[in-house]
Amino acid sequence: MPAPKGEGTLITTVMNNEIKIFCPATIANISCGFDVLGVALDSVGDEMVLRKTKEKGIRITKIEGQDLPLETDKNVAGASGLAFLDACSYDGGFEIEIYKNIKAGSGIGSSAASSAGAVWAMNELLNKPFSIHELVPFAMQGERLASGVAHADNVAPALFGGFTLVRSYDPLDVIPIPSPDALYATVIHPQIEIKTSDSRKILKTNISLENGIKQWGNVGGLVAGLFKNDYDLIGRSLEDHIIEPIRSILIPGFDDVKSAAINTGALGCGISGSGPSIFAFSKGENIAKKVAQAMKEVYENIEVDYEIHISKINTEGIREMAP
Ligand code: ADP
Repeated sequence: MPAPKGEGTLITTVMNNEIKIFCPATIANISCGFDVLGVALDSVGDEMVLRKTKEKGIRITKIEGQDLPLETDKNVAGASGLAFLDACSYDGGFEIEIYKNIKAGSGIGSSAASSAGAVWAMNELLNKPFSIHELVPFAMQGERLASGVAHADNVAPALFGGFTLVRSYDPLDVIPIPSPDALYATVIHPQIEIKTSDSRKILKTNISLENGIKQWGNVGGLVAGLFKNDYDLIGRSLEDHIIEPIRSILIPGFDDVKSAAINTGALGCGISGSGPSIFAFSKGENIAKKVAQAMKEVYENIEVDYEIHISKINTEGIREMAP
């Protein structure tokens, strides 16, 4: 039966005014790639609903799952959204609802999920005035609010999906990188909070040439391994001579969790973002599950509460969900 006149138009209008999205958790740094490499996860993330409003500006109307500020300028979704609004000619505004599953301060890109999600959804609702690459600097404004540094290594993989390399910040140049199909991540989150801003403060500002050489050899090796589907090369390259030796001191049981993961068959293991989460990459879901078991046992032995996630790589990034 043909649709009554006008019904199709009405449905289109309703769809265009509101969008529900999945915003993936992300692992940043990935051992050797401090501030430049990141990857999106598939089985853990937040949800957001964005709605166009006639009223200008941005209102955060609901946050569920966590106690975070509703004030636009204190919430990373608001901060990135305001940067987006400043750069486009739209004269209305947006309402935002945030449903958090990723704990703030966990090291798997909680702030990035909201920052990237807000600008991705706004762009969709306005029929994509910006490319994905152009959305990155807006989302980085949310990261500036969360950590004091406008880094892109979580928001880039959230927006593009898969692995991303931030080749340069000035000018911004983000390179999406393919990855082998059977690559899985296991991420364990000991239930302690480390603020990104605090874990940045303990880093040294100078590195030795010797460590620099090792580190950029590994970054090149990791990127090559991802392109070539070479799991052994990926594993050999998951080394961090600069950040991990300092930051791992803040994470209880780090060395034991890492050894347990590697001894169980993980390709490599390191700090996720600024911690305290620890990630391991494995070839195939079965090994990723065994690695999860081995990591859990370490925390059970030392009586540290944890959450654990096993996920394939999310190659799509933020995605629209059924309403
Ligand atoms: P993560 O690495 O998990 O993103 P950070 O420590 O970098 O954790 O950022 C979390 C900080 O950002 C917290 O201080 C939190 O209160 C603040 N914040 C503001 N808005 C949000 C939001 N929508 N989602 C997550 N964190 C937010």
